[in-house]
Amino acid sequence: MQEKLYPDLILYNGTIRSLSPSGAIHNAIACTGGRIVAAGKSDETRRLAGPDTQSIDLRDRTAVPGLTDAHVHLAEKGTAEMELVDCRDFYTDAHAVAEILERLQREAAALPKGTWVVAHGSPMQDFRLKDKRFPDKKDLDRAVPDHPVSISFGAHVTVGNSKALALAGITRDTADPAGGAIRRDPQSGEPTGELHERAQLILKKVAPEFNYLQLKEGIVFALNQCLERGVTTVHDIVRSGEPVRAYQELKREGKLRARVSLLPRVIESQIGSKSLIELGLITGFGDEWLRIGGVKMSIDGGITGKNACFYEPYDDDPHNHGIIRIQQDELDETILNCHKAGLRCCVHAIGDRAFDMALDAYENALSKSPGKNHRHRIEHMGNWLSTPERIQRLVRMGIIAIPNISLGYFVGDAILDCLGEKRMAKSFPFKTLLKNGVIMAGGSDAPGYYPVDPLRDISACVSRKMRWGDLLVPEERISVEQAFAMHTTTAAYAGFEEEYKGTLEVGKLADIAVLAEDPFEIPGERIKDIKVEMTIVGGEIKYEA
Ligand SMILES: [Zn+2]
Repeated sequence: MQEKLYPDLILYNGTIRSLSPSGAIHNAIACTGGRIVAAGKSDETRRLAGPDTQSIDLRDRTAVPGLTDAHVHLAEKGTAEMELVDCRDFYTDAHAVAEILERLQREAAALPKGTWVVAHGSPMQDFRLKDKRFPDKKDLDRAVPDHPVSISFGAHVTVGNSKALALAGITRDTADPAGGAIRRDPQSGEPTGELHERAQLILKKVAPEFNYLQLKEGIVFALNQCLERGVTTVHDIVRSGEPVRAYQELKREGKLRARVSLLPRVIESQIGSKSLIELGLITGFGDEWLRIGGVKMSIDGGITGKNACFYEPYDDDPHNHGIIRIQQDELDETILNCHKAGLRCCVHAIGDRAFDMALDAYENALSKSPGKNHRHRIEHMGNWLSTPERIQRLVRMGIIAIPNISLGYFVGDAILDCLGEKRMAKSFPFKTLLKNGVIMAGGSDAPGYYPVDPLRDISACVSRKMRWGDLLVPEERISVEQAFAMHTTTAAYAGFEEEYKGTLEVGKLADIAVLAEDPFEIPGERIKDIKVEMTIVGGEIKYEA
């Protein structure tokens, strides 16, 4: 093939923040074949243009490297965004149990009797609902007596009505599954309808699943939402072969508009680590659009279901320490095997007991099979309880922390309520972590609960101003550069992609977000409101406002 003589695309008259270590700011950038081929002054760069070059006047707007969200559940939740009855208080006026019931009732009225009504609310919505509790089986029965109902509140709590529980075969005699809990009325022992962690799977098994077409549509929908916020790469956690197949098909059909690094979940999933290892898949398999980024597993439950596992019980529930979903021996063995096979591990740990289990498992694997470039991660580490000892272990082993300021931003007030001041006093201690040399990239855990939006997360890291209006541990503010690094340069490192991603420099992928305002020139709390005007992936405009 003949080499192209002219750039495909030139952006000029802008403030192009390379975010490279030199801190270079250019006025123009040229792209050919999906890569950046020149960066510099507007007039010099424009001179490179040929007859077919598309030249765009940025009119003083700012361009930054395309953003990465290092922890999303995009394939899993994209369809939910489109299909489920929406009872989320962040987006609707469902601020009381009665308002949730009204929505379910309205939906049921339009469906034949016996058809499932599947809905989603927001994580920790019980804290914010006027009633200060979730709806239970009886509430749902009253509102929707003739349809099975399932409503989830985040990833860790699902409530079913009597019809749904009956179809799932959940009775007062059903034992709690390992790693899950069926909430029961303390007097009667009857299930209340509220199911936690693995107990949710009993209900989900009988509830209708999205079909394959809906799954594919949901992925396209959610990737477009990402592009609207300047996101060009996501690290997506998948739990079955279906989304993996869907992603491959979308790529072949030319519909994969942003880059995806897959993190197959290998426990509590339809994918076993053994099958990946047997196939010989290692981290990086794939190409610049779709690749294997490693494997994912979850040690403890989620904080939003009060199932994250702590040494000290929850402040508002003195008998609850949370749930461990993988025992230490299984964890050690899985991590060691994946590590030896060249599969990078991303381990979900939220409570301090789970942090220590993750650190122990990594220490075990690295002692048996030393290696420096493993880039293993602990998902949610860096949210709280990063004691000096844990920080030291992270740094010593080179483990990457993937904290989620989005969680603090949306539900930090509810978490404060259940974890207490003491544990939350040093929450999201990003300044301390960076000062001590912790490698840290940002992941949102979105979509589903809230959208993927690194500008919102950067804004929260810089300003520490949370959704409910308070400042959360403001002394741990970090700079705009540092917050961007969590979604650009360090995120690229966390994806083994720093050689060709994360900065706007010659030779790197032409993944660019054009912003209506310069985030480096406005107050931190306003960064979240910046409009993304254009998102370019591989030198092609994939989104334009
Ligand atoms: Zn997650």
